[in-house]
Amino acid sequence: MRANGKPIHHLNEFSLIKTYFEKNTPQRDDVALGIGDDAALLRCMPDQLLVATTDTLVEGVHFPKETAAQDLAYKALAINLSDLAAMGAEPLWFTLALTLPQADPEWLQAFSQGLFQLAQQFHMQLVGGDTTRGPLSLTIQALGRVPEKQALRRQGAQAGDIIYVSGTLGDAGLGLALVQGKIAVPEAAQPFILERFYRPSPRLALGQALAGIANAAIDLSDGLVADLGHILECSQVGAQIWADKLPLSTAMRETLSLKEAQALALSAGEDYELCFTVPQEKEGILLEKLKSAGLTCTAIGILQAHKGIEIKGFFGTLQQTGYQHFR
Ligand code: ADP
Ligand code: MG
Repeated sequence: MRANGKPIHHLNEFSLIKTYFEKNTPQRDDVALGIGDDAALLRCMPDQLLVATTDTLVEGVHFPKETAAQDLAYKALAINLSDLAAMGAEPLWFTLALTLPQADPEWLQAFSQGLFQLAQQFHMQLVGGDTTRGPLSLTIQALGRVPEKQALRRQGAQAGDIIYVSGTLGDAGLGLALVQGKIAVPEAAQPFILERFYRPSPRLALGQALAGIANAAIDLSDGLVADLGHILECSQVGAQIWADKLPLSTAMRETLSLKEAQALALSAGEDYELCFTVPQEKEGILLEKLKSAGLTCTAIGILQAHKGIEIKGFFGTLQQTGYQHFR
């Protein structure tokens, strides 16, 4: 990259890439050529589909200015991994396009630490990217693979399927409200809630375990009602949600009334849990698989032929469902 022919700071662009990115990335055997050339060369496998996804975080739009560099890096990778998880994919490689106002070594060190903490966990290699100067924003592209016919899609859900979600819902929404100073959260619940907001856990093991079991899946980035809505639209079915079954964390229950907690669980974004639908005859295999893998999921409703979303047993009010950039 060159911005008007000027390097982005006294810290030379190429030494920046080497120091903070190239040196720290996990190495994989299926990378024939990683960072350093005009493009990466990656070994793909026969009978597998390459799964590609990308997400951008822009300062002031997706995160507040004060966000710690390590959390920012972690979240940027996590939300991409969550998309791979929702497809049932195995994570492999990623690229990073980073736009920085300046090259601050301390910030870059922290960023690199947060990024590779998560990359190590899933053995993903950073294979390339771009570094430019401008208002802070970052774009990650994550690449993975899935055996043909095993990819989980938004289409394919059937009336009668049971709707499941992983983890607990609404925590990240509560975290956002806490960070924005809009809500008081008991001191003891704060670490958990902030962790859920800044460091979502991409459900990759679950996504891969759902092959041959789930008819459809999506990750919850915009909120349950909005995201389940995508499955319904793609699959041409409707849903009944059981409000009293929505999984709520102890921290949520301690902070909000049941109505308020359920409202967040239904509509708040950024939990990055998986929502998937399973035909009733496969629920037995699902529960066995979850148990042996130590994963927790909750049945929260059922799909029906009748279109739309019906929420049974909910007496609160829903505000917006899902954030849209160009409304
Ligand atoms: P080009 O001009 O050919 O696109 P660049 O000068 O932008 O190459 O980048 C040099 C090398 O460093 C390339 O291999 C590129 O993929 C890699 N790279 C640049 N920025 C990053 C980054 N933020 N993270 C990882 N790799 C990067
Ligand atoms: Mg480039």
